[in-house]
Amino acid sequence: MTFTVGTQDKSVFLRRESEARGYSRSFDTVFKAARGSLMIDADGREYIDFLAGCASLNYGHNDPDMKKALIDHIEQDGLAQGLDLFTTSKRAFMRSFERLVLTPRNLDYKVQFVGPTGTNAVEAAMKLARKVTKRTNIIAFTNGYHGVTQGALAATGNKKNRVGPEIQLTGVSRAAFDGYLGDGYDTADILEKMLSDPSSGIDEPAAILFEPIQGEGGLNVAGIKWMQKIAAIAKRHGALLIADEIQTGCGRTGTFFAFEAAGIEPDLVTVSKSISGFGLPMALLLIKPEHDIWLPAQHNGTFRGNNHAFVTGRVMLEKFWFDGALMDDVAAKSKLVTERLQRIADMIPEARLKGRGMMQGVDVVSGGLAEVICRRAFSDGLIIETSGPNHEVIKILAALTTPEDLLHRGFDILEGAAKMTMAARSRMAAA
Ligand code: PMP
Repeated sequence: MTFTVGTQDKSVFLRRESEARGYSRSFDTVFKAARGSLMIDADGREYIDFLAGCASLNYGHNDPDMKKALIDHIEQDGLAQGLDLFTTSKRAFMRSFERLVLTPRNLDYKVQFVGPTGTNAVEAAMKLARKVTKRTNIIAFTNGYHGVTQGALAATGNKKNRVGPEIQLTGVSRAAFDGYLGDGYDTADILEKMLSDPSSGIDEPAAILFEPIQGEGGLNVAGIKWMQKIAAIAKRHGALLIADEIQTGCGRTGTFFAFEAAGIEPDLVTVSKSISGFGLPMALLLIKPEHDIWLPAQHNGTFRGNNHAFVTGRVMLEKFWFDGALMDDVAAKSKLVTERLQRIADMIPEARLKGRGMMQGVDVVSGGLAEVICRRAFSDGLIIETSGPNHEVIKILAALTTPEDLLHRGFDILEGAAKMTMAARSRMAAA
């Protein structure tokens, strides 16, 4: 076998990989290794990672303790694939999740292991809410993102992901997210009015599905009062409340779940991305016990619960969630992120900050401008992406464990890219 180290040969990708590929178009290099918040390409070039596997690497790449536990597990012939059997690694993970996440927050949820990716948890949540309420309609919000399998996609707003009229997306009514109509309107009140009006044209909902902070939709934050109102509306109208914590969960916004800030208790919670701690695929649906009415194996699948993810996920919980140190650290780093983003916003007319915690960004108004800045940043060694309906929000999703000096180095690159881009624009305008 020939294996050429240090090559940027992409020919097999270009020849054989589906056009569906996405991230490799923005970050056009062949990667080879990753440690903490650094990624290294096949030529040995280092990149600072402000994307963190789209928030699936909240604890960085290849955490040494998780890696060691996983290697030990494999060496001892621990199960890799275990369907949904009882296993020792699943037991250890569930005990840690109960002790370190549920009990301290006084949360009582059953845990359903669903297929390995986030959209599988959303599918299960939507289906279960329909089964519990015997209703079909699900209320989802403008700019929401919940995945691309067909049930979840019906709840996703993103035009490109919805593909087009040839894909039938049914059973979802759209409502305006918090702030969508500007300062003068409380969109929770509008939803309440529509649900109370038997002739509004909105069918009685099985569920209201929301993200506490819309990740792909542009870092739109659901206010605390708004979340409380939405929870009350769901209850009043006999609908289940589903919090999609796939991107906001596992500490990203400064608490384990972002809904904690509002003191609400959703009926169903979708969790994925960083729950393995290591970037391994796993998704969970948390279910209030009274709603756990599945029949045995009614919502099944071959890959439910990932034994390797149980091993690393348990280490993640034991290492980072046994006390409040991580969240104190996240609070401090979030301030750093706000300050550094503000310096960038100050360079760009009408730019404004969005998001919360380690899920913040800067809306630079134009998707074209955001793209130029991010591309320049990548060529200077920073991996960062955009979000929002027109890709106008430059979004920071650095690992929560990124050391402060590395965060500063990443922001130095981003600020430099913004400065160069704005200088080039004013030169062009003057010419
Ligand atoms: N919900 C939210 C809030 C997400 O951010 C995502 C992924 N970006 C999903 C669902 C879908 O998860 P996955 O891509 O793992 O299917």
